[in-house]
Amino acid sequence: MENNYYPFVNTPLPYEYDALEPFIDEKTMHLHHDRHLQTYIDNLNAVLKKHTKLQKLSLERLIKISVRLPKKIQTAVRNNAGGVYNHRFFFEGLTNPAKGEPFGKLAKAIRKYFTDYENFKSEFKKAALSVFGSGYAWLVFGNNQLKIVTTPNQNNPIEQGLCPVLCIDVWEHAYYLKHYNLRADYIDDWFCIIDWDKAEQNLINCIKNKK
Ligand code: MN
Repeated sequence: MENNYYPFVNTPLPYEYDALEPFIDEKTMHLHHDRHLQTYIDNLNAVLKKHTKLQKLSLERLIKISVRLPKKIQTAVRNNAGGVYNHRFFFEGLTNPAKGEPFGKLAKAIRKYFTDYENFKSEFKKAALSVFGSGYAWLVFGNNQLKIVTTPNQNNPIEQGLCPVLCIDVWEHAYYLKHYNLRADYIDDWFCIIDWDKAEQNLINCIKNKK
């Protein structure tokens, strides 16, 4: 991830705002990147401005240590560092046109842990639908295996030592303009624009970096 340290800037999307049409609409991408993500960037910079010791930490490190920070700043760091990381990870994981299905190491791991891709899709969709209110569903690598987890708000699996491979933002702002309240339809559309090259690379990095 570029710009991994304070001061954080809102790096551009790796594609045009309308690139994910018709699965995710241009207006949603404008609002999501230029306003929602921008707000997390601004808020994170504002917190770190007052806590100079934290300015030296990478975005991942901030998330990892946030749970050990004094209560007073814990929520601000956790929510805003998470908000920056999660949105970048989500946006960077999308492409259009997409390959349609995983390949390589990830395809193999999906077969190992979820039998086949269709079953994985159904398990992942179930998890993404189960998030009550706002949050994310993730495919993660941890303890030498692949699994699906969900996080509320802007929490991130790296807090628990898990390494993200794939994620979907299921906050209503991610889909409400196009899909209204139909999260299931949005999830189906999201499956069409997963960047499987990126997910494969994420898994390879997760395996390489495990301790
Ligand atoms: Mn979002």
